[in-house]
This record gives sequence, C-alpha cells and structure tokens, in this order.
Amino acid sequence: MALIVQKFGGTSVGSVERIEQVAAKVKKFRDNGDDIVVVVSAMSGETNRLIELAKQISEQPVARELDVMVSTGEQVTIALLAMALIKIGVPAVSYTGGQVRILTDSAHTKARILQIDAQHIHKELKAGRVVVVAGFQGVDDCGNITTLGRGGSDTTGVALAAALKADECQIYTDVDGVYTTDPRVVAKAQRLDKITFEEMLEMASLGSKVLQIRAVEFAGKYSVPLRVLHSFQEGPGTLITLDEEESMEQPIISGIAFNRDEAKLTIRGVPDTPGVAFKILGPISAANVEVDMIVQNVAHDNTTDFTFTVHRNDYHNALHVLESIARDMGAREVIGDVDIAKVSIVGVGMRSHAGVASRMFEALAKENINIQMISTSEIKVSVVIEEKYLELAVRALHTAFELDAPAGKGE
Ligand code: ASP
Ligand code: MG
Repeated sequence: MALIVQKFGGTSVGSVERIEQVAAKVKKFRDNGDDIVVVVSAMSGETNRLIELAKQISEQPVARELDVMVSTGEQVTIALLAMALIKIGVPAVSYTGGQVRILTDSAHTKARILQIDAQHIHKELKAGRVVVVAGFQGVDDCGNITTLGRGGSDTTGVALAAALKADECQIYTDVDGVYTTDPRVVAKAQRLDKITFEEMLEMASLGSKVLQIRAVEFAGKYSVPLRVLHSFQEGPGTLITLDEEESMEQPIISGIAFNRDEAKLTIRGVPDTPGVAFKILGPISAANVEVDMIVQNVAHDNTTDFTFTVHRNDYHNALHVLESIARDMGAREVIGDVDIAKVSIVGVGMRSHAGVASRMFEALAKENINIQMISTSEIKVSVVIEEKYLELAVRALHTAFELDAPAGKGE
C-alpha cells in the first residue's frame, strides 16, 4: 500500500464531466489499496476570469483581497471533486489550504510555504477517506488567505507529498510525460521514462513548460519522486528522480530545450580594464533586467567586445541603458539583435562523456548554422543562433544525439 499525492490541473477539472472522470481515476487507485491525497487547481480559465473581474474594480487590486478572491477557484473544485467521489462510493473530504494548515509567509500573490501540518491529513487517511486539498493557496500566521503564484498548485502537490512523506507525487496534465523536445517541432520526439530533477530544471527553465519550476526545485530539495502523467490516457508518464543511473542504453543527452524569448546586446570597443563587466552589467541589473548568457572577447587594441542576452521583453530597456553606458565609457558602438534563439542540449550523461559539445557543433556545422554564442554548465551546452534556423537546429541535434523515436513510434 502506497501513499500517493495526485495533482490535477485546470484542464483536468475543466468541467463536471472531467471532474467525474478524475473521481473515477482516483477510485481506481483507492481500490488498489493506496492512500490518496488529491490536489486540484481551479477549473481551467477560472483564475483568469477572477483576476479580470477584480481588474474591473481596480487596475491594481490590493494583493490581500486578490488572494481572497482567486483562492475561491480552487475551493469550488475541491468541493465538486469530493462530491463526485462520494457519489461513486469513495469516502472523501475536501479542505482549503488554510484548513489543512498550509502555513505560508505573508507575501500575497506569491507566498512561500513555510510549514504543513501533516497530522490532520494522516488522521483523515487513517479513517479511510480520500483527502482533497485546494492547490495554490495557504494561510499566513495571522489567518490571511495567501496564494502561491500562478501555476502554484504543482507546488502545493509537491509540498504536501514532502510533508506526508508520500511514495510519489503524480502530476496529471494534458501531456503524457516529459519529451526529449517539443513534439510540435520534432515529430520524432519521444516521451522520457525518466529524467533527473537537475535535467528537468534545465529543461523547464529553458522553455519546456510542463511543470512549474518551483515545484521541481521543491521536489528535488525534498527528494519527492515526481511523475508527470496524462489525466485521461493510460501510460507510465515520466518519472523525475534523484538518481542518475549509468546504464548502457541511457543516452548521453536527455533532451533538447530551446527558447525564442531572448535578445542579444553587444557593446563594442570597450576599454579592456578592470571593472568593465561590472560597469556594464551593474546598471543593467539596477534596471531590473536579468542577464542570461554573457560573452566577453579577448582584448585586442586594448579594447574588447562584450555581449549578453536578456529576455526579449527587457530588450528596449536594456538597449537604452547600454547606450548611455557606451557614451560614458567611450565605447565604439552598441548593437542589438532580437532575431535570435537559444538551443540547449541537456543531460547528466555529459559529466562522464567527453566530446559532447563538439558533437553538437558538428551537427550544427553540417546544417550550416552559425553559432553566435556558447555557454556551458556541467549538464548543459547552450548556443545562440539566428532564430530562423531554430527548428532545423533542434531537429539536427535530436538526430545527432540519437533521440529520434524508432520508425513506427511517435507520429
Ligand atoms: N489556479 C491557479 C492558476 O491558474 C493555480 C494553478 O492552476 O496551479 O494559476
Ligand atoms: Mg493552472
């Protein structure tokens, strides 16, 4: 008998019919003898609808009141799911975040979980009930309702699983697992049976938006085995774990991530003196712009070129700041480019294999794709290329690292 936390997202509880399907699914696990805690999101679109409603009163609603409001979305779904379970003969009880006592700090709309009182839920489970808990919400130590930030139900699920020492936290969603890359770009992308937390974080932060990043961090920190599964299709999904097993068949690269959300800025001909990087990036960070990749060239003529990438939304802001820095420093010029994309290969296998980066560069060279920037970490190599070659690059890398599904598998 296992203790499983199952989290169902907004589309999985998007209608009464779906909620009944979820109930049937939960019942199946229960009939197996497992103890089940279910975490649900609001019905799809509901959180947005509530926020819109608040905005009709005020463009910037008071955060405390906004939390009181948006937390109602999840309150509806926990009650509906508990009713649906009871209707099919499964004893169930619903709880809001505050009732369980998911204690958070007081940072309304982006609160962090501090503590969960697991006793309460254990007691209910012992009494034979399925416990249905509202995702995304908690309560601060003054009793104010708080919410955890958009997509926060994933974090509730993982945090509950950690607090209850659950055997597994299952995240049910509208995809059947984590893929080697986006199947819309590479038809031969494959579902991964397993991926490590570290890899998943790289994949998630690089744009594969299957899970809330915070939830993955949380799961890694507390070693909660996490499984991503399709809500309404049978299948093993993808297990996200701690262990890196060294098996012969294990590919060196687990996946290819990419994003089109960055822009590149170059300041040319800056004096090659101590403190230059700080002089450039200090004001950029003071302007609240986050920098991703950074490249500084070897100096020649006592000047150097300095290139970095930022989120595309911050491009104009960063360009503006950089132009004034350039004037102050007497730099030659500032160049910007938004038509770039970042492609990354991710895999813990890189730690024990040499030549991974060169294999990547070879694959790109074969397609005549120019690499503009490179950065590496222990388990990732990223390149910036011209945006129009993004799909070609991802496909070429997917093939080069032997990630393509065998013929007949995938679509
Ligand atoms: N309902 C919240 C949202 O839409 C939380 C969640 O779905 O995870 O952001
Ligand atoms: Mg959601």
